[in-house]
Amino acid sequence: MARFAWPDGKQCAVALTFDVDGETIPLVQDPDRGHERLTLISGGAYGPAVGVPRILDVLQSAEVRGSFFIPGFTAELHPGLVKRIITEGHEIGHHGYLHERPDTLSDEDEEAVLLRGIDVLERLTGRRPVGYRSPSWELKPGSPELLQRHDFLYDSSLMGNDIPYRVATPHGELMELPVQWILDDYPHFARVGGEIASPQKVFEVWSSEFAGYHRFNGCYVLTMHPFVIGRPSRIALLERMIEYINDFDGVWWATLEEIAAYCLSTGVGDTWTPPTLPSRLERESGRVRHP
Ligand code: ZN
Repeated sequence: MARFAWPDGKQCAVALTFDVDGETIPLVQDPDRGHERLTLISGGAYGPAVGVPRILDVLQSAEVRGSFFIPGFTAELHPGLVKRIITEGHEIGHHGYLHERPDTLSDEDEEAVLLRGIDVLERLTGRRPVGYRSPSWELKPGSPELLQRHDFLYDSSLMGNDIPYRVATPHGELMELPVQWILDDYPHFARVGGEIASPQKVFEVWSSEFAGYHRFNGCYVLTMHPFVIGRPSRIALLERMIEYINDFDGVWWATLEEIAAYCLSTGVGDTWTPPTLPSRLERESGRVRHP
């Protein structure tokens, strides 16, 4: 009995996802002075200018479609790139407007940012986004309900499993397609001032993790950033991973939208009710009793 029922008896699913942060990076890294730091700005610009076209070429020759999460601000700066991503059959999902972390925003501001990002993507792609990935993978307890209210099919920012699951909200369930730092290029490669991993090392980590996902019927979601994975030595890692995965039987290559639609139409995926944890004040007041 498979741990998760993938379509046509497939063994596991694989989704290649790209967070196109672009020029929001300097503003995120240095909110006060980022707009004046030209080197930081150029480092962010490398993603849309060099990384994304390189990634699109790899996906095209491998005949794999990906899911691109783009902040509204970045999409507005690069409408031609957005068009190319859509034209080549990939998915575009929501990634904030200016890459704002929801946990740093009030509920009202979180909703305003969500609406602004929807508006930009809808205007540029002709279609309302159905997928959401929060900047820096931070969500608030109320975020899943907010996404549900605004008709998103899924979120891809939580880490509670390695197969799809449903987050219970007062407004119904939201499909979750979980991620994990081990399958993100950023912590492996982008350690300014620290040791930068070689593509060989990351191949070792990602490929052995994939073998485990295949064994346990997982939903293998790789999260990459064009300014990171788009570097000359690392784009070869992406090609090598695609080749490696293609050597396995029973792999379903899909966009996150396709995976979410499959889960929602077939009813697969357990429900998770997020626990309500006590605040610091409640813990320190002694009002919290542990069982
Ligand atoms: Zn991001």
